[in-house]
Amino acid sequence: MNKIALQVENISFSYSGKLALDSVSFEVKNGDCAFLLGPNGAGKSTLFSLITRLYDYRQGKISICGFDVKKQTTKALAKLGVVFQQPTLDLDLSVMQNLRYHTALHGISRKKARKRIQEELERFNMYERRFEKIRQLNGGHRRRVEIARALLHKPSLLLLDEPTVGLDVPSRKSIVEHVHQLVAERDLAVLWASHLIDEIYSSDNLVILHQGKIKANGSIEKVLNLTQTTAIHEAFQRLTQSGAIA
Ligand code: ADP
Ligand code: MG
Repeated sequence: MNKIALQVENISFSYSGKLALDSVSFEVKNGDCAFLLGPNGAGKSTLFSLITRLYDYRQGKISICGFDVKKQTTKALAKLGVVFQQPTLDLDLSVMQNLRYHTALHGISRKKARKRIQEELERFNMYERRFEKIRQLNGGHRRRVEIARALLHKPSLLLLDEPTVGLDVPSRKSIVEHVHQLVAERDLAVLWASHLIDEIYSSDNLVILHQGKIKANGSIEKVLNLTQTTAIHEAFQRLTQSGAIA
């Protein structure tokens, strides 16, 4: 039985009285790649802000590798790697400088940092670009650097918030393949917010969010059975239309 990397229990959250998440519960195990699918405004980024502790929540519980995000924040966040929806690299610093800053924040020694940075960049064919400023890289390469950065401290859980939006097809493909490889090789747990159904592999799990509510959750087979459909896009459409299955 794989360990639970992320557990979200009964989480609700409002922006000044407007409900954005409504009693959300699900879990992601190590070795699972779970796609958090939802149309714009579903609450995906809000959920990520709660998991990463950017926002506080009053109701429910979130745990990362068994550590309560609210009560054991440092231990929980040490297990977490994140790529936010909006890029967060410093454009005027080099790839190396951006990554060094991250390893320093995580208390990784310079020697170990050098090795980890090389490993992650090489895997992504970005090591030879390490002295270039982020500004010189295209969108796909910038996202690769952000994913490499999120992995430097060897997290157990990786959150990706629509990392491929706006990228060309080869860049998207390279990121999709890389992340799935990481899941298989490192027993990583991934929660990947997206609305691009073609990025999903048949072994992935789905968490379908609509208007702040989980509409379905589990293997693709389970979600197709629930919705009596034969393809993910049909299931998604059925669940995210008004009058959808509750
Ligand atoms: P998604 O990432 O799935 O597109 P969001 O989590 O960004 O969805 O948004 C969920 C809902 O919360 C939307 O109705 C959005 O308008 C609202 N919302 C998001 N951020 C804020 C904010 N900072 N202040 C007020 N409302 C917000
Ligand atoms: Mg979002």
